[in-house]
This record gives sequence, structure tokens and C-alpha cells, in this order.
Amino acid sequence: MRRLPVFFVLDCSESMVGDNLQHMQQGMQSVMQHLRQDPYALETVHVSVIAFAGIVRTLVPLIEVFAFYPVNLPLGGGTNLGKALEHVMNEIDRHVIKTTSEAKGDWKPLVYLFTDGRPTDRCEDAIYRWNKRYARRATLVALGMGKAVDFSLLKRMTEHTIAFEQLGPDDFKKFFQWISASVMAQSKSIGSGVDQSVLPPLDERFMHLAKDFKADTQVDEQCVTLVGRCQKLGKPYIIKYDRELQYQSPEDLGINLYHFRLDNCYPLSEDYFSWSDHAAHQQQVNTTLLQGAPACPHCYADTAFAMCGCGKLMCYDGFSEVVSCPWCRRQVSFGYAGNEGFDVQRGKG
Ligand SMILES: [Zn+2]
Ligand SMILES: [Zn+2]
Repeated sequence: MRRLPVFFVLDCSESMVGDNLQHMQQGMQSVMQHLRQDPYALETVHVSVIAFAGIVRTLVPLIEVFAFYPVNLPLGGGTNLGKALEHVMNEIDRHVIKTTSEAKGDWKPLVYLFTDGRPTDRCEDAIYRWNKRYARRATLVALGMGKAVDFSLLKRMTEHTIAFEQLGPDDFKKFFQWISASVMAQSKSIGSGVDQSVLPPLDERFMHLAKDFKADTQVDEQCVTLVGRCQKLGKPYIIKYDRELQYQSPEDLGINLYHFRLDNCYPLSEDYFSWSDHAAHQQQVNTTLLQGAPACPHCYADTAFAMCGCGKLMCYDGFSEVVSCPWCRRQVSFGYAGNEGFDVQRGKG
């Protein structure tokens, strides 16, 4: 039986925290539900799920559609896209059966690469290797979600670089329906003996082929994420702020002011730290740019935005005179930060 290997490579960097990660999790479920109901897919498709953030790991090794089990997507700091691409190529080498003169191997693998940001690692070598040895042997569909994506980089790996922008509430659902449809179209076409990539037409309301534009390295970040720990329970959390236009000057002046508005504060699992790239450079952000301070999602203390002298964030109930820092264990007492604000370590996205 010739298999159609399908690799889902999912960006689980911290900018995905909250809705996006949940949409992706649900999206994967719906794709699998659709595939299970399709006779061609059931017969040929084998699915693998790979997650990447600061590290890359295979969550589901290549298995038949009916044997697929739901996965919990992790979250970590960093967007190591280069390492993710290397990982997929190694998986293809290891698990996809090559056609030889004696026997037909697997069908041409499909790789769906999801990302919502720009890489935090070097991708040059991985892209070179991909184009040289894999681009013709596999179909890569790169799916960029949102505004912070480096599309010019994705376009260097594949002509199938698609930009997705969520406008309506059902767009994520339809986006994943398109992904299911594209896997099914592929499995059907090989059912009739054709090994060519056929992608269904794009729903132009929320997705389009990424255009050729030069990478603008000056594009501001679309969000800021900060990691802290509950002072009482020691558990980690992540605070996400989304970029928002605060003031737009008349066009001839061209001065636009942005700040970051609080999205939410989400509890994290300790797993986050093992998925993060600790070697990457930490950026800082001044708190005057951040609008809104959340409560602690673990103990509900008034603010999750208190900083120890060690530079780490913790929650603070506003009453205790001296507390112990959950990161460095030092005793800390809090004063008022003043109008100057202070700099905090921000995530790598
Ligand atoms: Zn707390
Ligand atoms: Zn500390």
C-alpha cells in the first residue's frame, strides 16, 4: 500500500497564546474528522504533527488517519523555523519510503507549515537544503497567519505561500476546511494514479497567495508577551499585549503612535520552559507602552505585573509588605514605579 504522508508543522511560539493556539488545536481536530469520513484519505493518508517554538519535536509520528489521537499543543518562547524545516526533512528521510527500481514507495509527501511570525533562528542553510533536495520531492504549503509573518522568507521555500487573515468569526473554521479539502483532493488524485499537487481554489475572502514584496525588517512587532510567576503558588503565566494604533497624524507628517493593549493573562504549564529557546536574546519593552495590567490567573491577586530586582515578573496582592520572589527566592518589598515606567523582558514570539 502506497501511503500519502502529510506533515503538519505547527508554530507554537508564545505569540500564538490564547485564541490562535486554540483555533489551531480545534482546526487540527476538524481536519482529522474530515479525513476520517473520506474513503480515499482513510485508505492512503498518514498524518504526522510536528510542533516548533524554541525547540522542535514530533508530537505525532506518521500514522494512519483512523489511529490519530488528539494532541495538546505546547507553547514556548522562540520561532525556530529553520530548525523546524530541518526536522521535517529529517523526518522525510527517516519515514517516507522511497521508490526504487524494485518497488513503488510512498506518494509525494504534503507538508503544511503554519506560522504567525518571523523566525528567531537562522534559516538560510535549511532553505538551501530544502530547495536543493526536497522541493521537488514534496509539496510544501506555507500558511502565514496574521500581519507579523515574513512572507518573503516563506516564498523562498514554496510557491504555495498563503496569507490568512482572520476577519470574520468563522474564518479559522473555513481555513481548516480548505486544508482538509486540499488533503482530500490530493489523496483522490493519487487514487486515480496522478502524483501531482493539486490545491483547491483559495477562498479569497480571508486567504490569498502571498504577493512578492520585499521583507521590511523594520515592521514593528504585533504583540508583546511577558512571562511571570504566581508569588503564592509558584506557577507560571503569560501576559499578552496586542499592538494598537494610538494616534495617527495627518498623512504628510507620517507620525503614528502605537501602544500595546492588554489581551489577556493566561496560565502556563512548566512545559513552556522546555519548549523555549533560552539562548535567544531577550528584548525589553518599557511599561509606559503597555496599557492595562492583568490579575494573576492562578491566585487572582490584583496585579500579575510586579517586578523583582532579579528582573522577573510575579503577581502581587497589594497588601503584603514583604514577599518572596518565586524566581530567585529573595525577599522583596514593592514601591511605586513612577511615571517613567520600567523595562521588562519581553518574549521572543
Ligand atoms: Zn498569583
Ligand atoms: Zn527575583
